[in-house]
Amino acid sequence: MDLLNTLVDKGLRRELPTREEALAVLATSDDDLLDVVAAAGKVRRHWFGRRVKLNYLVNLKSGLCPEDCSYCSQRLGSSTGILKYTWLKPDEASQAAAAGLAGGAKRVCLVASGRGPTDRDVDRVAGTIKAIKEQNEGVEVCACLGLLSDGQAERLREAGADAYNHNLNTSESTYGDITTTHTYADRVDTVTKAHAAGLSACSGLIAGMGESDEDLVDVVYSLRELDPDSVPVNFLIPVEGTPLAKEWNLTPQRCLRILAMVRFVCPDVEVRIAGGREVHLRTMQPLALNLANSIFLGDYLTTEGQAGKADLEMIADAGFEVEGAGEVTLPEHRATAGGGCGSHESAGCGSHEGGGVCGTAAPAAPANEARTDLVAVRRRGAGTDLAPNA
Ligand code: SF4
Repeated sequence: MDLLNTLVDKGLRRELPTREEALAVLATSDDDLLDVVAAAGKVRRHWFGRRVKLNYLVNLKSGLCPEDCSYCSQRLGSSTGILKYTWLKPDEASQAAAAGLAGGAKRVCLVASGRGPTDRDVDRVAGTIKAIKEQNEGVEVCACLGLLSDGQAERLREAGADAYNHNLNTSESTYGDITTTHTYADRVDTVTKAHAAGLSACSGLIAGMGESDEDLVDVVYSLRELDPDSVPVNFLIPVEGTPLAKEWNLTPQRCLRILAMVRFVCPDVEVRIAGGREVHLRTMQPLALNLANSIFLGDYLTTEGQAGKADLEMIADAGFEVEGAGEVTLPEHRATAGGGCGSHESAGCGSHEGGGVCGTAAPAAPANEARTDLVAVRRRGAGTDLAPNA
């Protein structure tokens, strides 16, 4: 296909595809899906080889948020029965982080619900970063605390944070339909502040919230302009108790096309499959490793992921390898602090919500059927007495 040859050439040259080309990827048929994956896979391998970076989420503070992000089970008015707790102590956070690192993760993403941190919260997180870095040599730490005020990014950098995550989530034109308590411009401002402070910027999106192809392309082009080092791609987990609970819009094929489009538009950036990987890609997860070079290990913020061991087996079976602590994630021309984080939502911060759970035998589902059987609210790990999934 001419389109795919053009996109591979542009991806290898880091040249921006046209919007029409990005839209055409999303419009390809299922008959062409493997060709799309193979083409985007060439770009992925050129910049990242067969390495898969593992990231581990630690939910420092869960629920009780005054914001109204409609995808999020921690939002104001959510009736989802999630774990609710206030700030973990530095030692508790460090212990949680150590479990993920022992499981193969090289980055820990410290996430807290809320509009944004107070200066006291930044001090608290600084203590947590210090504890984690002292107890786990070589670990990368990404903070994800919401909207930042002036000077806070610099203080996090001084405290040892490597990266900051804040997702754009969706296009500017639809942002107001998803959240009313803050704006798209607020989010852009925080990513810009993180970047300016020398933190590796991590910013991504959530697909499946009822957006159009144009919206998806808009947000990915906006991300390319912001130039984060990592782009987490969340697939909405329509959690019961949130306004988007009925938005079961995604199929595994659609998720693969979205990941391929993101790879073509952001060819040399860490593209991470974030929340919703198990729920929406299901048995197609290994194919998606040809597009993304990064995933979360274990559980998400408020929902459970598949067993960490299953993630490691999947990576090995698909012919990929876990990126080691000594390996640099990003291509040489953009290597600074490393890759990125998640989203407060489906996976990490920036949109603080939940991932899914797998492992339950279920009858084959037709496209778009609600798969509530694959969604389990997190009941283990941080904030509980039970061992984490790593
Ligand atoms: S995404 Fe973050 S800011 Fe929005 S409701 Fe959830 S926890 Fe609050």
